[in-house]
Amino acid sequence: VDQKTVWIGTSWKMNKGPAEAIAAARALESFQPPEGIQSFVIPPFTSLRDVCSVLEDSALMVGAQNMHWEDSGAWTGEVSAPMIAECGASIVEIGHSERRQHFGETDWTVNRKVHAALRHGLRPLICIGDTSDEFDFGVSQETLARQTKIALHGVSQKDLGRVLIAYEPVWAIGLAGRPAEAPFVSEIHTKLRAVVRDMVAESGVRIPLLYGGSVSQANIRDYVALPDVDGVFVGRAAWEPADFMKLVGSVS
Ligand code: PEP
Repeated sequence: VDQKTVWIGTSWKMNKGPAEAIAAARALESFQPPEGIQSFVIPPFTSLRDVCSVLEDSALMVGAQNMHWEDSGAWTGEVSAPMIAECGASIVEIGHSERRQHFGETDWTVNRKVHAALRHGLRPLICIGDTSDEFDFGVSQETLARQTKIALHGVSQKDLGRVLIAYEPVWAIGLAGRPAEAPFVSEIHTKLRAVVRDMVAESGVRIPLLYGGSVSQANIRDYVALPDVDGVFVGRAAWEPADFMKLVGSVS
């Protein structure tokens, strides 16, 4: 690993209620990732405050899995950026493909949420990804460029310095997914780098570009070694704290 900061994080998705989440956070509390690695965990909302408390003085950052774009109001069932910030979280996942697929998340809502997150001092972790149809038709890059440009539309140069992007092919995620091959990820990330480089032209900040989708102990190093990959976003393979620490520890 060279000078770049490597980001390695996991979303627990709809797993771990408070009791289980607190136990997992305690297991991670004194973990020291190798130099140059920034790690994070993203619990479900009902465990967020507890996990933030346990990990307050740890090396790990804590995030939320979703949020609404308004600060407050008549939006039954939703959670806002100020609520997440008040819990002590510093990251918020926006636009995960499961939200786009099952809960009507669109490029437009992603953009509004990115602005709201930045307004409240959170780092948006924007998830983008091509479907298997888009992959088969050879238009992955077009989809990713569109999702990225709309997500970041209107974001100031200063705020771009707090954005994270995760490339997560829909066809690579979850039990039915197959990990994207490293050369493909490399090509995608290099093109994505060009898209974001255009947007950060003035400030020259390096937006971390993470890869996600069936990352495991077997392939994590292949992805992290790629020049335009700044880390990985992991699901299943990192839910157990011992597995998470082993994954992070293996990348140095
Ligand atoms: C994800 O859903 O963001 C993800 C990366 O999941 P998995 O690692 O389980 O494929």
